This record gives sequence, C-alpha cells and structure tokens, in this order.
Amino acid sequence: MVYLDNSATTKIYTEAYEEMLPYLLAEYGNPSSKYYEKANNSKVAIELSRERVSKLLGCSIEEVIFTSGSTESNNMIIKGVADFYHHKGKHIITSAAEHPSVLETCEFLVEKGFDVTFLPTDCFGRIDPVQLEREITAETILVSLMWGNNELGSLNDMNAISEVCKKRNVFLHTDATQVIGKLEVDLEDYPGITFLSCSAHKFHGPKGVGCAYLKQDQYGILTPITPLFHGGGQEGNIRSGTLAVHNIVGMGKAASITNDNLQYAIKSLGENEIYLHDLLQTKFGESISFNSDVKDKIPGILNVQFKGVNNELLLKQLAPYVSASTGSACSASKPSHVLAAAGYTIDEIRSSIRFSLSSLTTQKELDVFKEL
Ligand code: PLP
Repeated sequence: MVYLDNSATTKIYTEAYEEMLPYLLAEYGNPSSKYYEKANNSKVAIELSRERVSKLLGCSIEEVIFTSGSTESNNMIIKGVADFYHHKGKHIITSAAEHPSVLETCEFLVEKGFDVTFLPTDCFGRIDPVQLEREITAETILVSLMWGNNELGSLNDMNAISEVCKKRNVFLHTDATQVIGKLEVDLEDYPGITFLSCSAHKFHGPKGVGCAYLKQDQYGILTPITPLFHGGGQEGNIRSGTLAVHNIVGMGKAASITNDNLQYAIKSLGENEIYLHDLLQTKFGESISFNSDVKDKIPGILNVQFKGVNNELLLKQLAPYVSASTGSACSASKPSHVLAAAGYTIDEIRSSIRFSLSSLTTQKELDVFKEL
C-alpha cells in the first residue's frame, strides 16, 4: 500500500512525535503562568519552536504567531485586515482557485459589504500578475493569493505578485500551506509579502497547529490587524487562548527537520514525481492525461485524469493499494472549484484524481502501480 495523499496530511516525523510527549506528561505547565519551573519550561519550548519556524520561513522570531493551522490563519488575517483597515477601503483581491478557508472568508466579507475581486486563472490555476495590477484600486486593502495550489500543484508567480503589491503599496497575504517543505520559502526574498499562513501537518508535524506570519516594521511593530480571538492576550494580543504546547513543540521539531532536509526533499519529490508520471503513462497510456503537466510547480503533486472513469469509484477500487483523493472536499453535487476555474468540464473534473507524494515516499512503494 502506498500513501499518496500527502497534500491532505503527512505522517508525523518520529522525532517530532517524541519531542512532543514530555509536554503532555511531565511538562504540562501553562506557558503564560509565571515563576515556577513547569511554566518556564513550557515557555522556553514555545520560544525554541518559534525560532525553528522562523528559520524555516526566513523571517524574524517575533513575526511568527502560533495558531491552530492555516484555516485559522487565513480567517484571522483576512478578517483581521478587513476589520482594521475598512476605513481605508473595502476592496479585496483573491483568486477563484483558493482554498475554501480563503474563498468562504471572502464570501463572508462580501455579505458584510466588502467588494471582492476573484481573479480568473489559467488552465493550471495560476493568476496573471499583470491582471492583478490592473485590478488594484485606491480602495484595495488586501491581496490574498495562494503560493501553490493544493489540487494542481501549480505555483503562482510569487516574485511578480510580491513586486506588484510592494509597488502599489497593498498588503499581500499568501496561503503557503502546500509549499512549505517542498520549496524554498525565504520571506527575505519577498518584501511584498505582509502575511503568510501555514499548517504543521503538511510538513510532517502534528495536526491542529500552524502559524501566521505578520511582517514587522523597522521599529519591530507587527502589522496591526484586529484579532480573531479575544481573551487572555497570548501571542502579543493577536491570538488569545492557551497555547497548545505539545503541538507547537511538534511543529518546531518538524520545521527544524524540514529545514535541514529541504534540498533532499525537493530533489526526491521531483524525481519521484517523474517516476510516478512515467509509471502511469506506461501503464495507462492514452486513457489518462495529466492536468498538472506544467514545468514550474510544487514537486510531488500530480493531478491525473482517467478518461471516462468516475473518480470516486476509482478511488474506492484503488483504496486497498493506493491512498489518494480527488484533491478537494468534492461531492457529486459540488465538483472541484479549482479544476472548474482552470477550465475543465464537469466530466473531466469527475474523472480526475490527485496523487501527492512526500519526501518519505519511495520508488519501491510507487511500484505498486505495476501490479494493478
Ligand atoms: N490552504 C490550503 C492551500 C490547504 O491545502 C489547506 C488544507 O488542505 C488549508 C489551507 C487548510 O489547512 P488546515 O486544514 O490545516 O487548517
């Protein structure tokens, strides 16, 4: 059996799991408490994780705000900017191929009176930075565009997008959930990015933890937004709630391993994607086509169309040998909005499957396709 649903979630690194355990058993102190050892130990562990995550993202330690994951970070940033800056303008730009945690948040804001532009995409789900620039007005307070697409694996041109937003002096939020650990993400190289979201479980950390990056100015002040959670004022008053110490510790360790292994991971994901691509091509020939056949993409994500075959039925048949998914919470009545935005017909969408690898996937495991 080969697990090829790593864009949905990954297996936690054993080292990350092991480092978490003490914080569930002996070191259960609340990091916001003071003076006694258990509290201090938790606090030290949180700060080590913050440092590890900041290294992975190429940002300052203080710019990392722990959350429960990308869904929360996306909500926090988009709603937080909308509320804090609505007096400056009520226009937000996003794309039609975003994750539902961005799209639904934007739809919510439309109901609250905001004007949201949903940029169309090309056949790989990518937006055109020139069109983005044309859509920016004096009313635009936020651009929210994913770095890499979770269904097709295609990459938006983040260099160009970052430059446009910097030039036009508009906040840029990027949902980087799918690219962390599969691409070099050094925020120093992207001065136009003001906010970023990520989830630990996509890079072999635990579920239910992630972070938001909030850029700080030259005085060390984080870009202000209205908090989503009000309460005890944790995380610099931006994200209240007792920190999930064990999860944050696991995220920190996974970030550290991911950082150390990044070059190997990128190479292995790329090679194994080609290996899988060729295996499928040999096995299925003309009866398949590749929806994500583009050069510049997240390595390790392959979206494949099995012509004339229902994807849900195929996934069920494959399940004893291959764990994969359609790539979205797609039901018979709600086909993938990403593939729809990329121009695929309903029939094409309903015959498409996403295979997503991790750096732990081996060619020997992929050989299961030879036996099918
Ligand atoms: N954004 C993208 C691009 C994703 O792929 C996902 C999860 O699949 C999310 C956001 C939401 O992440 P989480 O469920 O960890 O909050």
